[in-house]
Amino acid sequence: MQSDPKQVDCLIIGGGLAGLTLAIQLAKNKRSVLLVEKNTYPFQKVCGEYISMESWDFLETLGANLGALNLPKINQLRVSAHAGFTIESKLEMGGFGIQRYTLDHRLAEIAKENGVQIIENCSALDVQLTDGNYAVKTTKGTFNAKLVCGSYGKIDPSFVERKGQQKGKYIGVKYHIKRSFPDNLIELHNFKNGYCGISKVDDGNYCLCYLTTTKNLNDNGNNIKQMEQNILMKNPFLRTYFSESEFMNEKPIAISQIGFRKKTTCQNNIILLGDAAGAIAPLCGNGMSIAMRSSKILAGHLEDFFRQKIEKQELIDRYTKEWNTHFSFRIKTGFYLQKLFGKRLTTLWMLKLLSKTPRLLRRIVRMTHGEKF
Ligand SMILES: Cc1cc2nc3c(=O)[nH]c(=O)nc-3n(C[C@H](O)[C@H](O)[C@H](O)COP(=O)(O)OP(=O)(O)OC[C@H]3O[C@@H](n4cnc5c(N)ncnc54)[C@H](O)[C@@H]3O)c2cc1C
Repeated sequence: MQSDPKQVDCLIIGGGLAGLTLAIQLAKNKRSVLLVEKNTYPFQKVCGEYISMESWDFLETLGANLGALNLPKINQLRVSAHAGFTIESKLEMGGFGIQRYTLDHRLAEIAKENGVQIIENCSALDVQLTDGNYAVKTTKGTFNAKLVCGSYGKIDPSFVERKGQQKGKYIGVKYHIKRSFPDNLIELHNFKNGYCGISKVDDGNYCLCYLTTTKNLNDNGNNIKQMEQNILMKNPFLRTYFSESEFMNEKPIAISQIGFRKKTTCQNNIILLGDAAGAIAPLCGNGMSIAMRSSKILAGHLEDFFRQKIEKQELIDRYTKEWNTHFSFRIKTGFYLQKLFGKRLTTLWMLKLLSKTPRLLRRIVRMTHGEKF
């Protein structure tokens, strides 16, 4: 449904998985939607690119046609401690591998086919609400909307003020590599103050992605290669992967200031979803599913709002309640698990304990995952 982009039902800030899937659902319900994305599709993103199977059906209902992509299905987990002690477990639900470059682009195409107006290379700069109407100032002009949703990811834009919140202390780094590695396996390897995952993605390559502290980077003269040499490669698995793989990109993609916690579902009159509302630690491997599921929950309540069955405050209350039911516990579990990872002795003891209690390991994996939706 094409409409005047200057006045739409819903303006969405940020076209990652949360924003794009919300846009598609609203457009399928015949709402006029404008999405502003600061990058231009297709583009790479720091992400482990392992998606929990819980999202498969949802993506198919939106028209992603994943079945045609012959994606690797991943159902086995191996975790190593700093010096190489490993445990393995079957992943009950498992997941699949797909590059964000591929998936976000595909969803952006579907959104456009359904009438969403996407303005790329366009950053939101400010949001004002006057007499029930929103004005969103962007680098490509000012647009008006009945409602504004924020799916801008982990880092709040400057116009979103959250009192007392510090910048996240983690950095994320991603490569695509070629090497011999099982299609159905995801590995998570610990090193000092961080962990690195590896699993297959859609183009036959492997995603090698790690999270560590900004301090680790600072201690190595802000030099990623030096940090990898001095810290990551102390883990024997990572030593092999970093020294004996073909790297598809010379330089990695990196992001900084990442934190993992529950935030709020509404801030500065903007309704938030995906990582903007709360990010789960990546070791749980399902931030993308949480992002997409939050869009599904929100889309349902937005429909009631646009049909004038509920007022805005009720929309926010209902959405917040459902968001907490589905995600609060998972995000908290991820937060505490993250604290156990990356510390040499704690990680080793934890893995030794889990190697003797495989049921506990399966239970922990289950606690961080949701059901199909
Ligand atoms: C190191 C690391 C590894 C991870 N690995 C996995 C994994 O293997 N599996 C998994 O499920 N999850 C993983 N995650 C988490 C996952 O990447 C996120 O949960 C997911 O991307 C959240 O989607 P989103 O749509 O909320 O945000 P994003 O995908 O970050 O999208 C936000 C979008 O908003 C745009 N934007 C930002 N500000 C503005 C603005 N002012 N104006 C316009 N556009 C803007 C950005 O360009 C971006 O495209 C990982 C995270 C990290 C850090």
